[in-house]
Amino acid sequence: MASKKSSTQASPMAAAAASLLLGLLLVLPVPAISSSDAEEAVVSRFREYLRIDTAQPAPDYAAAVAFLRGQAGAAGLEARTLELVAGKPLLLLRWPGRRPSLPSLLLNSHTDVVPSEPHKWDHPPFSAALDEASGRIYARGSQDMKCVGMQYLEAIRRLRSAGFIPDRNIYLTFVPDEEIGGHEGIEAFVASKEFKDMNIGLVLDEGLASPGEEYRVFYGERSPWWLTIKAKGAPGHGAKLYDGSAMENLMKSVEAIRRFRTSQFDLVKSGAKAEGDVVSVNLAYLKAGTPTPTGFVMNLQPSEAEIGLDIRLPPSVHTEALEKRLAEEWAPSSRNLTFEFKQKTSVLDNFGKPAVTPADSSNVWWALFEEAVKRAGGKLGKPEIFPASTDARYFRVLGIPAFGFSPMTNTPILLHDHNEFLSKDEYLKGIGIYESIIRTLATLKDSNVDYESRAEL
Ligand SMILES: [Zn+2]
Repeated sequence: MASKKSSTQASPMAAAAASLLLGLLLVLPVPAISSSDAEEAVVSRFREYLRIDTAQPAPDYAAAVAFLRGQAGAAGLEARTLELVAGKPLLLLRWPGRRPSLPSLLLNSHTDVVPSEPHKWDHPPFSAALDEASGRIYARGSQDMKCVGMQYLEAIRRLRSAGFIPDRNIYLTFVPDEEIGGHEGIEAFVASKEFKDMNIGLVLDEGLASPGEEYRVFYGERSPWWLTIKAKGAPGHGAKLYDGSAMENLMKSVEAIRRFRTSQFDLVKSGAKAEGDVVSVNLAYLKAGTPTPTGFVMNLQPSEAEIGLDIRLPPSVHTEALEKRLAEEWAPSSRNLTFEFKQKTSVLDNFGKPAVTPADSSNVWWALFEEAVKRAGGKLGKPEIFPASTDARYFRVLGIPAFGFSPMTNTPILLHDHNEFLSKDEYLKGIGIYESIIRTLATLKDSNVDYESRAEL
């Protein structure tokens, strides 16, 4: 804006006054909020959340919810604390849209974190120590997933101060117990009336850090099958070679399982398949032997032996083939083996289809999401299947689209690891990404597209 040209003939008095004023301005601190001050405040709010010890098995949910309610108030959001299960508060926030009949957007994050071994960390896991040189913030939950929960809130603050009003309702949920399966967290919530009334069109939930330049996005996840295999056989002297001992029976299975594991892992190693696209099989435990007070009996072949397996299946897998392999090769009754599932999660949704959210042009939400990340200067990698489990599966089985996304590039994957950290700059960059995502997904762009119909989405 151009200013009116002032007189070039300034009086000596005016000049003296001006120089005095200038002198004062140089002496007195100017109370302006610079962008670095604002960034510092944003980072300090994140660190404050990280300092709340919400580690399983005794998370301080009350402190987390109290803190988040304060943040929600500052962001101008409506807040309700739902206690669907006693002692497991779930914070539900809402930013009302101009057209509340449209399918809403849900931004989900969990408040709990996994335990840590503090003595193996360089900084205490709930100190949220900021290393000034590298800009890294060390804390349990810095990647999984307190970063995301706070980024949602910071992005909304920015959008509100820019005068943005969403078309559709935007909800935020801060849920308990994700790290222990979500049964008293998100599972209880999706069964509630409050959830049904929300008319959700799309959910965003957690993803993974990316060591490279591209953000990772997940459109499905592998289903866990937890399994025990028990072997029985004739006991015998430790010196005797004979067929059909429990250990021999079981070790033949272990060999077959290891061959299968290698075949799957080779596909990942060669780059033919992504980690989430193969079946992983890992031994969780081996149990055998006849114990003594100091160890095991060494000259006896035991009559029983057992293993525990953690198997993860991609949504596209042919489960019948795997079940056949299990019955015929891994735990055949002909070798005196039996098996039992401790957990067997279906790869299908409630409608009998693979529980995935289309991440292509057939899904209008995907197109908007992709566009939003791009507009914020981010690059998305090829959509992936999440290798482990998240709360997003509870939405996908209901047929509700859900993407897993945690905006962290150039960051090693340290969730559940020692020295989990996120750099300050990546955290701040992620807020900009969500600002673009929320703005784009909350805005009804094309009135020709029937957004009101869930079938279209
Ligand atoms: Zn998580």
